[in-house]
Amino acid sequence: MRVFTLVFSLAVFVNSIVSRSIIKKPDDEENYIFKENAVETLDPAHLKIESRKLHVPPLLELKSIFEKALSKNFADVTVEIVECPDLTEAPFALAASGLGGNPTLAEIGGEEYQWPSLQKDKLYDIKTLARHLGHGDKSFVTGAGAGPWPYLNTNIEMMMNVVLDTPMSSATTRIASVNPSDGSCVFQILPGNETRFAFTASLFLSKSKPGKVIKVSVKKRIGDDNFISTMQKALSKEYSNDLVGLGGTFLVKKGKVQQSAMKQFFEKPANTPEEKNSHIQLYEMSAPLVAVGTFVSAETDLHLRVAHWHSYSSIEGGHYIEDTTPDIVEYLGYFTPARIFYRVDQPPKGEKIGIH
Ligand code: ZN
Repeated sequence: MRVFTLVFSLAVFVNSIVSRSIIKKPDDEENYIFKENAVETLDPAHLKIESRKLHVPPLLELKSIFEKALSKNFADVTVEIVECPDLTEAPFALAASGLGGNPTLAEIGGEEYQWPSLQKDKLYDIKTLARHLGHGDKSFVTGAGAGPWPYLNTNIEMMMNVVLDTPMSSATTRIASVNPSDGSCVFQILPGNETRFAFTASLFLSKSKPGKVIKVSVKKRIGDDNFISTMQKALSKEYSNDLVGLGGTFLVKKGKVQQSAMKQFFEKPANTPEEKNSHIQLYEMSAPLVAVGTFVSAETDLHLRVAHWHSYSSIEGGHYIEDTTPDIVEYLGYFTPARIFYRVDQPPKGEKIGIH
C-alpha cells in the first residue's frame, strides 16, 4: 500500500510522462577498453555474503497457490506445469534457453546505497561474483538492478540477461538511462566484456538447463496488485515460516506499463521522500516487453526486496511498476523456484522507496 501511495505521489513530481527513446548499439565490442571508466569492482572475497537454503515447494503446490491468488486479480488465468520452452526464441529471445540447473537467487547491495548520495564504490562484477558463488562459465544470469554507472557516467537501469563465459560473455544485457536534455529513455545493449553493475541487483542464476517450470498466462487485470505482487503476496501468506524465492521471466504481451528510471547523478544529497522522488523519471512503455527479475516470500532479516523486475522492448526499458491498461493487459510468464539464496553486501537498514 505504501508503495502505491508513493507511486501516486510521484505523479505530482513528474511533469510529463515521456516515452521517446534513443537506441544505441554497443561500441565496437572487440576494441572496447576500460579507459576513462576504469573503476575497480569490489572483490567478492572481501564482501559479506550470507547464504540461506530456500524452501522449495512442489510445483503442483505453487501452481494451486498462484492460480487461486491470480484469479482474484485477473479475469482470465491459466497456470500450468510445463517443460521450459527454449527462451532464446521469440518472443523472449533471452541469452540462454532454460532456467534449470542449480537455480540460485542473489540479492546484492540495496537501494540504501543510493541515498542520500550514490556510493560509487558499490560496483560489482557478475563474472567474479558468480564464480565466487559457484556459478562459473556458461552460467545464465538474469535480473533487475542498477547498471555499471562508469559505462555512461550516470545512473543506469539494468536488465541483466547474460551467459557468462571466458573471455567474453554474451552481449545481451540491456540498459536504460535518462537523457538529461529531455527525459527520454536512452536504450542500449551492453558489450560482452562489460559485466559490472552498481549498488543494487536482484538476480537469478542457473546453468540454463531444461526442466519443468511454472507457466502463467493471465489477461485483464481486475484487482489492484500487479502481476508479480499478486504471486509474491500469495507466497508471503502461504509460507510465513519459510523463505521461498523464484526467478524467471515474463512477457507483457498486450497493453502498456508504467516504468521508472533514475535520472543523472544528484547534485545535492537527497534526504526527504520528495527529494528522492524528484530523481525518478516515469515512463509509459508499450508491449511487447520482456521482464527479468526475482520475487521472494518475505523481506526477512536480510532486508530483501520482495519483488524486483525490469522490463524492456526493442527500443526502451526500465523498472517495472504496474500495467496502465488493465482492461487489455496480457502477461505470459515462466518461473522456477530457486534452492539457495545469497545475500551479498547487505546495507544497513534504511528507508526504501522501492520504485527503481
Ligand atoms: Zn529496479
